Amino acid sequence: MIEDELISPAEEGHLGYSKIDVDLLNEIQEIIPAGRLLYKREDIERYSHDETEDLRFYPELVVLPESVEEISRLLSFCTQYHIPVTARGAGTGLAGGALPVFGGIVLSLERLDRVLEIDERNLQATVESGIITQKLMDAAAEKGLLYPIDPASKGSCFIGGNIANGSGGPRVVKYGTIRDYVLNLEVVLPSGEVIWTGANTLKNSSGYSLTQLFIGSEGMLGIVTKAVLKLVPKPKHDMLMMASFPSNELACEAVGHVFRNGIVPSALEFMERTGIEWVMRYDDVHFDLKEGAQAFLLIELDGNNTEILMEEAEAIFKVLDAHQAMDVLLADTVAQKEALWNMRRRMGVSVKSNSVYKEEDTVVPRAELPKLISGVKVLGKKYGFGSICYGHAGDGNLHINIIKGAMSDADWATKLKEGIKELFELTVALGGTISGEHGIGLVQRQYMPIKYSHIHLALLKGIKQLFDPKNILNPGKIY
Ligand SMILES: Cc1cc2nc3c(=O)[nH]c(=O)nc-3n(C[C@H](O)[C@H](O)[C@H](O)COP(=O)(O)OP(=O)(O)OC[C@H]3O[C@@H](n4cnc5c(N)ncnc54)[C@H](O)[C@@H]3O)c2cc1C
Repeated sequence: MIEDELISPAEEGHLGYSKIDVDLLNEIQEIIPAGRLLYKREDIERYSHDETEDLRFYPELVVLPESVEEISRLLSFCTQYHIPVTARGAGTGLAGGALPVFGGIVLSLERLDRVLEIDERNLQATVESGIITQKLMDAAAEKGLLYPIDPASKGSCFIGGNIANGSGGPRVVKYGTIRDYVLNLEVVLPSGEVIWTGANTLKNSSGYSLTQLFIGSEGMLGIVTKAVLKLVPKPKHDMLMMASFPSNELACEAVGHVFRNGIVPSALEFMERTGIEWVMRYDDVHFDLKEGAQAFLLIELDGNNTEILMEEAEAIFKVLDAHQAMDVLLADTVAQKEALWNMRRRMGVSVKSNSVYKEEDTVVPRAELPKLISGVKVLGKKYGFGSICYGHAGDGNLHINIIKGAMSDADWATKLKEGIKELFELTVALGGTISGEHGIGLVQRQYMPIKYSHIHLALLKGIKQLFDPKNILNPGKIY
């Protein structure tokens, strides 16, 4: 019986939304064939969570559209019947953005997964939004081109999710975030209307930028179905080095000085020793870590001229030396480079598997990093939590993994919020903000007032109201 298998809506209540009953389901089948509608608990389980801690919210229905026309008809229907719709990419989000907190429909973009064109004349790619980021990178590389926005989750996350979260990754430090690569978007609005937000041009000064508005809008204003993205020529060479330091502060101070010496690395990542040790244990791999070293920088340079790269590397060695680097390992082979990058990319999952944790995505102006990392440790002592920090130090973006450790369940449930609040207050006091690339989603929304005034939040709500007057798209997020 379909009636028995339909799920009851999720915890936060209904806000007057319609429950999907058999009659509504039958009508939805007129838009999307039954074979691409999932509602049995075992089928929708994987859509009830993303990579955010252990949160779970079950949708009532998961739809797998295969065309923009289906999405258009579906959104128009959902606006008419007041059914919440949560867009879902690959579900790798770390802020609970893709969780259907009011039940309703999860709209998965997984079947819109094609590269439509690599335009070698204009250095542009046109893709559907459900393409895995790595697949786009591979398609560009086949033509000698680079799509440089490579989140550590690039092997699974989708371009649409990257756009909706304003994502970054290790190469932001040289190449910019996804904001610098999106030229034009095809978007389905809650009304069902379909728009292109800009032009396939490198500049566009024709009124407010809807393209930029949709980047980072976390599925609350429209569903991104296609994107035109900028590509760049792929650099011919790269170098990767790992430096070890006796303290977090010395490593973080070195970061700013690399840039002040006129060098822009293509990646500059920070890792604490404990993080690397957890990766070694989790993946059963080994890295020779210098005894007494507490913090490590992974520094990549890229370019077309090896002599210039060598000169830049030597300038970096001097900076590292001046900040008491204990040693600097230069990766000689492709395999060594891959092993070091893997270590960095596997840090999140290793932490997650090791302990109850909570990840914060703080970002400060680069020169303030030493103060941020010392502040995290001071707060840890005050509130009783441990922490493992790593991240895109070149951007001032530190992923702070708060570890439960010896904290009691009661303190973890209540006192921790105060600690996180204080952490964000510190971040903002240092000129930073509460998320650099993961988005606000569900879990950070309570902290938004630390950074933004009520006027700012009212403007965000006003924009939402304009695009989505019936509040059907991803309700319960950001504010
Ligand atoms: C191990 C690991 C490493 C990570 N490393 C990085 C990193 O280096 N840099 C980084 O920035 N992030 C990183 N992340 C976070 C995450 O991968 C990114 O936020 C990613 O962009 C999410 O993409 P997704 O396809 O999984 O989106 P989802 O998690 O499915 O969704 C994210 C948000 O986008 C919305 N959305 C998805 N698709 C669409 C669409 N087509 N139209 C409108 N809205 C949509 C959803 O509603 C949701 O609000 C990492 C995550 C993990 C687990």
